[in-house]
Amino acid sequence: MDVDNEQVSNENSNNHASDDEWTPYSWRTKKIKQNVSYENQEHLQRVIEKLNHVPPLVTPAEINKLRHQLEQVALKKAFLLQGGDCAELFDYCSQEQIESKLKVLLQMSLVIIWGSRIPVIRIARMCGQYAKPRSSEMEMYEGKEIHAFRGDIINGYEPTDRKPDPDRLLRAYFHSAATLNYVRSIIGSGFADLHNPDKWSLNHVRSKGTRQEYQTIIDRLTDALNFMKTIGADFPSSSLSNSLNSIDLFMSHEGLILDYEQCMTRLLKDPETGNLKWYNVGAHFLWVGDRTRSIDEAHIEYFRGIRNPIGIKVGPSMQSDELKRLLNIVNPNKEIGKVTLITRYGCDNVEKFLPGHIKAVKESGHVVVWTCDPMHGNTKKTSSGVKTRYFNSIIEELSKVIHTHKNNESQLNGVHFELTGEEVTECIGGSMELSDVDLEQNYKTYCDPRLNYKQSLDVAFLIAKYCEK
Ligand code: PEP
Ligand code: MN
Repeated sequence: MDVDNEQVSNENSNNHASDDEWTPYSWRTKKIKQNVSYENQEHLQRVIEKLNHVPPLVTPAEINKLRHQLEQVALKKAFLLQGGDCAELFDYCSQEQIESKLKVLLQMSLVIIWGSRIPVIRIARMCGQYAKPRSSEMEMYEGKEIHAFRGDIINGYEPTDRKPDPDRLLRAYFHSAATLNYVRSIIGSGFADLHNPDKWSLNHVRSKGTRQEYQTIIDRLTDALNFMKTIGADFPSSSLSNSLNSIDLFMSHEGLILDYEQCMTRLLKDPETGNLKWYNVGAHFLWVGDRTRSIDEAHIEYFRGIRNPIGIKVGPSMQSDELKRLLNIVNPNKEIGKVTLITRYGCDNVEKFLPGHIKAVKESGHVVVWTCDPMHGNTKKTSSGVKTRYFNSIIEELSKVIHTHKNNESQLNGVHFELTGEEVTECIGGSMELSDVDLEQNYKTYCDPRLNYKQSLDVAFLIAKYCEK
């Protein structure tokens, strides 16, 4: 570990006693995976000092609100929809892209609310999802070894721009702030697309049967919305917030770059108890990835100290005993819904691993939010080497997870997707029946393949059908 780094402390940390010797920088004493080596440590230090003083992006009151809502999700009284890009880019900070992401998430949630008849809590992978774990730090480009692209917060996608640059940490903060500012504005001003499901086009749905099924859902949804408007009734407070014009949408990203997360971690008054607590004010919700969740290492050390609700990705390599220990470390008080377990096994692995994980959680006495990420275990390469995901594998994993929970006296409480509001062609299949030759039409991702707008709505319709009471 670097001595300079150790001196980089969050100023707030000097004013109080911390929990069990946890501080926003106690992770620095641990082994760390996916670390970034910056050439110029003084430059990093200057950036960290600046980031220590930037204003919060979100507030303790908002974070608490999400904590309470996730408690409801864990208790099966609400459902969680989390989605967004694999790698958000600084370039996605534009009016059009922000609006299209919001539109798809809100429309999906409306369809799921209709099907499940319970409130849907929405969390976007947005306003800070700029860091990517990579399987290898270097890659070959034109016969030379260069750094892999690790997300806009670290380096640039252009092969000439791969050196980690500390200034990008600052740029990540300001792009998050600008994105969130616009999200807050449009949500505060009423988001017209939500009000008119009857205008959603279904022309892309090739199968007549599917189109009719979707149309029936849309008609019934439209009826329900019109009825509510006619009688002047709002949606119940926790389903679509206080009215159709004010919608809750929370922001999340993978908490990978701890230099950044440390700076966003502030000792603030919990508005409910008046006690000082450590909140990460850079996002409402952070998750730890499948590659960095080792029990004795830096990321889990960081995650155990923050008040925010957190996610843990759970893949096939997670041992049952390890899962129990992890839950006790990050949530010693067994707060209901504090931890969201985001399972991502791959469609052929669900039955092999999920029952053991469900059993472990039951034995642990923790009440978690169980969500399914049917994307990350189902990434394939086409014969021409393009990274893709098959819509059918995604649906297969999702339906196996739903059934496995049922068969083990448990319940799936939410879903986690990589998606975009745009008409990209990155995943194969869906109601528009994209094939592998179609992929090249509009393949735009800089990391993993995402569901496009239509495929995302397909998924929502399928979830609504599964949940329909
Ligand atoms: C991701 O969610 O983009 C990701 C890298 O997931 P995982 O940690 O599950 O591989
Ligand atoms: Mn991904």
